[in-house]
Amino acid sequence: MATHTLLTGGAGFIGSSLARHLVEAGHRLVVLDKLTYAGNRENLRGLDLELVVGDVCDKDLVQELVAESDIVIHAAAESHVTRSHQNAGPFIRTNIEGSRTVVQAAAEAQTPHCIHLSTDEVFGPATKGHRFGIDDTHRPSNAYAASKASAEAFLQVIRQRSGYPCTVVRMTNNYGPRQHAEKAIPCWIGNALKNKSVPIHGTGTAQRDWLHVDDFSRGILQILSHGQPGETHHFSGGNSLSNRVVAEKIAAMCGGAPIQEGPERPGQDARYALNDDATRSQLNWAPIQNFDAGLQDLINTFRDAEDS
Ligand code: NAD
Repeated sequence: MATHTLLTGGAGFIGSSLARHLVEAGHRLVVLDKLTYAGNRENLRGLDLELVVGDVCDKDLVQELVAESDIVIHAAAESHVTRSHQNAGPFIRTNIEGSRTVVQAAAEAQTPHCIHLSTDEVFGPATKGHRFGIDDTHRPSNAYAASKASAEAFLQVIRQRSGYPCTVVRMTNNYGPRQHAEKAIPCWIGNALKNKSVPIHGTGTAQRDWLHVDDFSRGILQILSHGQPGETHHFSGGNSLSNRVVAEKIAAMCGGAPIQEGPERPGQDARYALNDDATRSQLNWAPIQNFDAGLQDLINTFRDAEDS
C-alpha cells in the first residue's frame, strides 16, 4: 500500500522539489496550496499527484486532508523577508496560524509523522565561527523569522498539551529550480543573463550557506526512513559565502554583468549558520551537489527557458 502524504505549499520552490522526490519514492501525494503569488501550478506539471487549492488556515479543509494522511509535510509559508517588513499580516496569518492549524490537526488525527519546515533565521545572526545547535535560543531579527519562531513556539505548546511530537526541520538557504524571481539567486541570474546589473544589498558582506534543494529534499526522505517523530533536524549546505561572492560568480558565469551595490536590506542578518553534525550522522545524509556546478545547472535551466 502506498503511503498517503499531504504536502502543504507544494506549488512553491521547496515544495515542488519535495513533491518530485516524494512521487518518485512512491508516495500517494496530495498537495494543499493556496497558489499565492509565490505558488505556481506549472511547478507541479507532469507529476502524478492531487492538487487541492486551499488555505492552510482553513481548519475544516486541513482536518479533512490530514485525516486521510499517514504523513504530513508542512512547507506552506510566506517566505520573503522584504515583504514581511512591508506587510507582516500574511506572515502572521499563514506562518503562525496556518502552522498551528496544520499541526493541531495532525495531533488530533494522531498522524504517524508530521514534519514542519522552519528556518535557520529563527536564531538571528550567527557570530563569526558559531553554528547554531538545535537547542540554541531563538532571537529572530526580521518579521519573517519572528513568524517562523512563533510557529515553533506553538508547536511546543501542542506538544506540551497533547504530547504530539511534530518533527521540526531548520535549513540554510536553498537554491535550485523553480524558485520565485524575487529571491536573490533567480534575480541575479535573470539580470545577468540579460546583461543587466546584478543588485546586492550594501556591499554584499552578508553571508549565507547555500544548500541545493534536491539535497534538502533527500534529507526529508531520510527523516521519513531513518528519523523518529518529534526530532529536530538541521540541514546545512556547508558552504558559507558572502552575497557579493555569489553575485560575482553568477555574473561571471553569465558573461560578466556588472555588480550594483544598493541600500542595505532592513532586517538583514550578517550571517546564518547551522550545526547539522547530528543530523548528518543520524540520518546518514550529506549534501552531494557542488555549489558551482549547481549554479551552472541552474543558469542552463534559465537559458533553456529563455530559448523555449
Ligand atoms: P515559497 O514562497 O517558494 O513557497 C511557499 C508556497 O506556500 C507557495 O506555493 C504558496 O502558494 C504557498 N502558500 C502560501 N500561503 C499559503 C496558505 N495560506 N495556504 C496554503 N498555501 C500557501 O517558499 P519556499 O522557499 O519553498 O519555502 C518553503 C518552506 O521552507 C517555508 O516554510 C520556508 O519558511 C522554509 N525555508 C525556506 C528556505 C529557502 O531557502 N527557500 C530556507 C529555510 C526555510
